[in-house]
Amino acid sequence: MDFDWSDDNRRYRARVRHFLEQELPAEWPEIARHGPGSKEQTEFSLDFCPKLAEAGFLVPHWPEALGGANGTAWEHLILGEEMWAVGEPRGGQYMNVNWIGPTLMRYGSEAQKDRYLPPMAAGKAIWCQGFSEPNAGSDLASLRTRAERDGDHYVINGTKIWTSYASLAETCFLLVRTGPLSAGKSAIAILLVPMDTPGIEVRAIPSLVGHGDIHEVFFTDVRVPVSTRLGEEGQAWEIINYSLTNERVGIPRYAMSSRVLGHIVADLKRQDRFNDGVVRMRAGEAAAACEAARLLVYRLVDMRARGQTPGPDASLARVATVAADNAVLDFALDFLPEFTTGNVYPEYLAHHERAIVAGIASGATEIQLNLIAQRHLELPRGPR
Ligand SMILES: Cc1cc2nc3c(=O)[nH]c(=O)nc-3n(C[C@H](O)[C@H](O)[C@H](O)COP(=O)(O)OP(=O)(O)OC[C@H]3O[C@@H](n4cnc5c(N)ncnc54)[C@H](O)[C@@H]3O)c2cc1C
Repeated sequence: MDFDWSDDNRRYRARVRHFLEQELPAEWPEIARHGPGSKEQTEFSLDFCPKLAEAGFLVPHWPEALGGANGTAWEHLILGEEMWAVGEPRGGQYMNVNWIGPTLMRYGSEAQKDRYLPPMAAGKAIWCQGFSEPNAGSDLASLRTRAERDGDHYVINGTKIWTSYASLAETCFLLVRTGPLSAGKSAIAILLVPMDTPGIEVRAIPSLVGHGDIHEVFFTDVRVPVSTRLGEEGQAWEIINYSLTNERVGIPRYAMSSRVLGHIVADLKRQDRFNDGVVRMRAGEAAAACEAARLLVYRLVDMRARGQTPGPDASLARVATVAADNAVLDFALDFLPEFTTGNVYPEYLAHHERAIVAGIASGATEIQLNLIAQRHLELPRGPR
């Protein structure tokens, strides 16, 4: 494969990088230290994303009619890489632009598009994703949060867990069961639920991955109009598959990992600590892991640019991205302890603390490996 960036792509990357150099405030590293789900970073995103929107760097991949610029799949990737390389200043709004917005474009009613897409494109919307439950994580089809039809309303009862951004979100992209548990995937629907609807209670879960990052969300007799439903009852699985494929490609964390690795190696060289053979070997391994993740993601983007649907290649790219994240964090832990105390590069620390859960959030690595075994290596399905 002879891969090289076009001059247009190079110019585009230089423009995004220049914008970030000019516009990211000096206090960004300290704000980012609080973590992507924190009040500090969310408030920052509500200030910074409108600036990105104004400069054309928030939703360039969206259609022009919706505030975008019909940008290419490669420009979208370059934008994501540059954002992640500086610690992802879009915070939780990355979800809006990468998958919630595009999902609403494809499956939303005109009223839903009119209501939700303009604030997203302006950088002024915070959403959360209500999928996981205490007994439904990897096995999402066993979710139990119920939405009972009552005239032209649904009445929701149940509990979601590990919900990122829930305490600050205005709207939840919520998965609910509209039929019996035995009906599995075919009785699940998606509701777009305003988080200030009476009967919703959000409780933060204390955790190692940053204060305010994950929550339990309790729904007790929450009434929402049927018009909050996205698509049809029973269509949720098709919609989520579309959303998750977008989400998995939308997080080029390897761009951050390789930038961090570069900083660490430069520091070790400055301190004359890069001559040891083991240090150099481990740096090489981490760099190779970042490069493998990058090229596997590029394969997906290439497919998307040609109008193809990625399939099992998305699992390969995700597993490689998690491996890259962990290789860099392990290298930092072993050879530059000051990185892990936040004394240097605080803007990256919250994300690297999250590396311990990167293989769990948005689909556990083991599940991705199962999918690779079945669909890529054509091995038989494991016992259930
Ligand atoms: C930081 C963070 C943020 C999150 N944010 C959100 C959010 O915003 N919204 C949301 O809905 N969810 C969120 N999640 C939840 C996440 O999607 C789930 O944790 C994930 O899907 C795994 O589900 P679980 O925790 O129930 O673990 P389980 O599914 O119970 O898995 C536990 C372990 O068993 C393994 N396992 C399970 N089934 C199999 C199998 N068939 N084969 C092999 N191994 C298996 C898993 O790989 C895992 O190691 C978040 C999680 C984290 C850590």
